[in-house]
Amino acid sequence: MIWYPYEQMKTMKAPYKIIDAQGVWLKTEEREMIDSVSSWWSVIHGYKHPALNEAIKSQTDRFAHVMLGGLTHEPVQRLSQKLQSFLPGDLNYCFFSDSGSVAVEVGLKMALQYFVNRGDLKRTKVLSLTHAYHGDTFKTMEVGDDEDYHFILEAYGEKKDVIHIPTEIPALEEAFEKYHQVLNCFIVEPLLQGAGGMRMYDISFLRRARELCDQYGVLLIFDEVATGFGRTGNRFVADLVLPDILILGKALTGGYIGHAVTVANTKVYDGFYGDDPAQALMHGPTFMGNALACSVALASIEVFEREDYMSRIRRIEEITRREMADFTDPRIKEVRIMGGCVCVEVYDAHTLKGYQQFAYERGVFSRPFLQYLYAMVPYIISEEELVQVLNTMKEWFAGHRLP
Ligand SMILES: *Cc1c(COP(=O)(O)O)cnc(C)c1O
Repeated sequence: MIWYPYEQMKTMKAPYKIIDAQGVWLKTEEREMIDSVSSWWSVIHGYKHPALNEAIKSQTDRFAHVMLGGLTHEPVQRLSQKLQSFLPGDLNYCFFSDSGSVAVEVGLKMALQYFVNRGDLKRTKVLSLTHAYHGDTFKTMEVGDDEDYHFILEAYGEKKDVIHIPTEIPALEEAFEKYHQVLNCFIVEPLLQGAGGMRMYDISFLRRARELCDQYGVLLIFDEVATGFGRTGNRFVADLVLPDILILGKALTGGYIGHAVTVANTKVYDGFYGDDPAQALMHGPTFMGNALACSVALASIEVFEREDYMSRIRRIEEITRREMADFTDPRIKEVRIMGGCVCVEVYDAHTLKGYQQFAYERGVFSRPFLQYLYAMVPYIISEEELVQVLNTMKEWFAGHRLP
């Protein structure tokens, strides 16, 4: 028996069973549909990409996995070298793990221990954003601010070590003024908050955050698990404002296999480097640096560069803006577009009830949540396919009269 994610198992609707997938298309026994959410935002090259398939197959013939404790191998060495040149600034030190949540845990642990290693035991608190989502493990839930998790945190106890602020500069300045002595880090999903409702905000907030972090010696962490690899229309938001720690996941492997990386800059790395074993980073996921994951991640980055994905993403944004330009409805609060993400926020979650099946019947897989109907398409999507995704959204409102 499978226990499905985020579902009341008694009332959940049967999931669509996928028997094959190719490009942007998912196939069931009954029909084909465009995956408008890229399997939780990860499948940026679409399904069954020849270069990614080849990378994972040929590595399987050598070895699928060896542990990184006491061993190393070419795919993990090549990937860390590749990331070092691909990522901005001195984000050079790659700690691999098996999922985004774990990579965030590692980043938070790095930030806390960075100060512990310096003998500064006062800096126990984390600054984060309202509506933040950083994963489903306990510390990431605590740092996050997703309504759906509050019930469990109430049972777990109060949030003692996390301060949440909105994405507004005055609130940011006030928090630093008040808490700078006890903060070890400020963690954000930069520019685009995903699971908290596809909320978009301005780069000026992050520029100010960088200044304040420098002024008060607080580490800045970008959780780019969702935004990394082009989703915001930037390769990484870290290209615009440089964090001390950068976390990548989801699209890192082109959606082929779970893997993530926490990348530290020289300052953070040096905070651990020395002769004292007690100052080492005590972490080591069993499957960190998995050879299949590293091989497919390398192939993914090569395709991303070679096929100029940034111009593809700009095209997706242009088409989306053009198609959504005159689209309004009294039930819609806002239509937000950034890079390869479009979100239609409605006033009342009931407005979206039944949308998934409606879209399925029109050849689109969609998974709205709460008041948010969104698309984060694979970057290889054609104009015609993208228009089909957007038209399906528009038809839903056109075909459903106001109550
Ligand atoms: C999805 C996500 C995570 C968690 O990643 P998992 O691989 O699901 O553990 C963390 N942070 C952000 C911003 C995410 O979107």
